[in-house]
Amino acid sequence: MVSFTDPPEAKALAERAHDLMEEVVLPKERELTGGMAASERTIEELREAAREYGVYAPQIDEEYGGMGYDFRDVLPTFEEAGRSVLGAQAMRIAAPNEGNMHLLELHGSELQKQEYLEPLVEGKISSGFSMTEPIQGGGSDPKMLKTTAEKDGDEWVIDGHKWWTTNGVNADILLVFARTDQDAHPYEGCSVFIVPADADGVEIVRNIPHIGPSIDRHGHAEIEYNGVRVPEEHLLGEEGEGFKHVQERLGPARLTHCMRYSGMAERALDIAKAYISEREAFGSKIADKQTPRHAIAEHETELAAARALVRAAADEISAGGEARIGVSMAKVFTANATQDAIDTALQFCGGNGIARDLPIADFYESVRQFRLVDGADEVHKRVIARESFADVDAAELDPITRFEG
Ligand SMILES: Cc1cc2nc3c(=O)[nH]c(=O)nc-3n(C[C@H](O)[C@H](O)[C@H](O)COP(=O)(O)OP(=O)(O)OC[C@H]3O[C@@H](n4cnc5c(N)ncnc54)[C@H](O)[C@@H]3O)c2cc1C
Repeated sequence: MVSFTDPPEAKALAERAHDLMEEVVLPKERELTGGMAASERTIEELREAAREYGVYAPQIDEEYGGMGYDFRDVLPTFEEAGRSVLGAQAMRIAAPNEGNMHLLELHGSELQKQEYLEPLVEGKISSGFSMTEPIQGGGSDPKMLKTTAEKDGDEWVIDGHKWWTTNGVNADILLVFARTDQDAHPYEGCSVFIVPADADGVEIVRNIPHIGPSIDRHGHAEIEYNGVRVPEEHLLGEEGEGFKHVQERLGPARLTHCMRYSGMAERALDIAKAYISEREAFGSKIADKQTPRHAIAEHETELAAARALVRAAADEISAGGEARIGVSMAKVFTANATQDAIDTALQFCGGNGIARDLPIADFYESVRQFRLVDGADEVHKRVIARESFADVDAAELDPITRFEG
């Protein structure tokens, strides 16, 4: 609806992604309705198609099996992929592998890149990211991290309890966030480790039952790490720099969530518009009544605003910045705008909104997690407010304070 000034290469890539979605992914998604999970074979076929269309792993350097596009240039492609829960899996840009590949590309040694990044990009192995911990440990406040890694000769020994590790049950490797220096400042002295999922002491407690789309294959695992030993070469990045590294993973990953979810919300509105344009009630098409038209107009406006915020933060990251505030603003706004749009779309489809015949039921169950995952709304508002209050100027009150005393 609103056209953004995306770079020409970004537009060309997104056009190919659009063709893949229209010609391959959406027809496959329609076949899978009714709560059927997509099989490994289906995902592999979709990946093959993504390779043929020239949109497979565009965000990863060519050296490691990707296409070498800049973060800003893949943005509209990620939005396009979000129009189906299968799109990002086809293009190898789905969480959590996408964020983990990014971290490995940024900080992996050459050996780690060969052993883990390349097969991850190829889709031969899968990964999880283990940071969040149960009640007494690190959650919204990661300083509360309890998991430890202690050096023993040329090995690290990891002990801890994690939950909500997306893809944990299917993962071949787990990137585990652990405290390596008990005496350091809580925001320092933490590190990231590559842990093979079949290492002794990795105990999958359970896949947490949760609401979510029926054709999304991810689960979220609770995992115990009991005296898990990994060689020192499995340290990812610098010892003690874990918070910095994780931030480099989470900042862009929050934006890629925004991109995918805005695509999902746009598709939900497209389906709802199609439904109410066909369906009549009380003597006219529902789409001809002013209330739904205004609601659609409001959601379209909010989605355009969300996309503009995402582009501003992505520009800053592409220019080498961290975009901490921009990412938090984009994340909170997009999570709420997409949740509201999908809720309205479901409502406009009447009873069919909750049926698994249409993908909106899946979208509705999926989007609710977005206000929690990678930092709850309140945590991002805390970050924005901290910055906002940082330069409060008492001089603003001069007109009322100069008469004091
Ligand atoms: C679907 C899904 C997938 C996930 N995948 C992963 C993963 O792969 N790896 C991983 O490590 N983690 C993952 N997580 C965990 C996720 O990052 C956390 O759920 C999130 O960071 C919030 O932490 P918490 O659940 O511990 O909430 P808590 O810390 O227990 O907070 C509970 C609530 O308190 C409120 N709150 C918190 N801080 C404040 C504040 N300062 N002011 C006001 N209110 C506040 C918020 O409403 C928050 O939701 C996933 C979560 C979900 C739901």
